[in-house]
Amino acid sequence: MIRQSLEQQAWSWLDSELDRWREAGLVAEFWWRDDDAVSPSAELERLLELSARLELPLALAVIPAALKPGLAPRLRDESRVSVLQHGYAHRNNAAAGELKLEIGGERPPARLLQDLRRGRAILDDGFGETFIPVLVPPWNRVDAGLFESLPPIGIRGISTTKARPQEFAAPGLRQANTHLDPIGWRHGGGFLGHYPAVAVLIQHLLARRLGYRDRGEPTGILTHHLVQNPATWSFVEDLLARIKRHDAARVVGAAEIWRE
Ligand SMILES: [Zn+2]
Repeated sequence: MIRQSLEQQAWSWLDSELDRWREAGLVAEFWWRDDDAVSPSAELERLLELSARLELPLALAVIPAALKPGLAPRLRDESRVSVLQHGYAHRNNAAAGELKLEIGGERPPARLLQDLRRGRAILDDGFGETFIPVLVPPWNRVDAGLFESLPPIGIRGISTTKARPQEFAAPGLRQANTHLDPIGWRHGGGFLGHYPAVAVLIQHLLARRLGYRDRGEPTGILTHHLVQNPATWSFVEDLLARIKRHDAARVVGAAEIWRE
């Protein structure tokens, strides 16, 4: 009983924030990114079904070196789905004791760029126009010293986490991050909870609306179809449906964010 009322409070808090956007004559844009896809699976079906049922665009970050042959054919007729590049092999290159990262750390920059170029070619071949050359660094961490080297190898976007400092991380490299990850990774990998999750969303929406943060950056919702528990799935579904219903909110696709 109490839990249900807390859930409802969290949702009405979100609705109120979106109502403020409407009153200001604004539309809050959102986008949806899901990480770690490599092959068809029951969990992927669940994700695609949700995107189809809600008619919402979905950006799937695929790990190039781990890609299995079945994924590209499975996505061929899914016109709402875009594919982004999730690093190269989701391998940890961080020095011992450092936070995990693939695109940086102890691997030399020239080798990292070679990995990324190879990964880009794999996704280009596999997915054609469904693939948008945007780098989603594994663990949302990347050596920013590499940014300027990415557009020359054909990567025109970057997506990590938290409010972006500016629209372009480097010339030709547009950034759009994710802001809410509803999984409590540090608490066993279950659902973070309605209140904490909605609070994170509101924080970004409010900062955008008041102009403390770049209003043009869509608020990003990050999901992980392979590891979400039922509570997280149910939250994601409710959240997306609620956003879709509100007339001052709109979910944009990766192709629109990273238009050329
Ligand atoms: Zn990942």
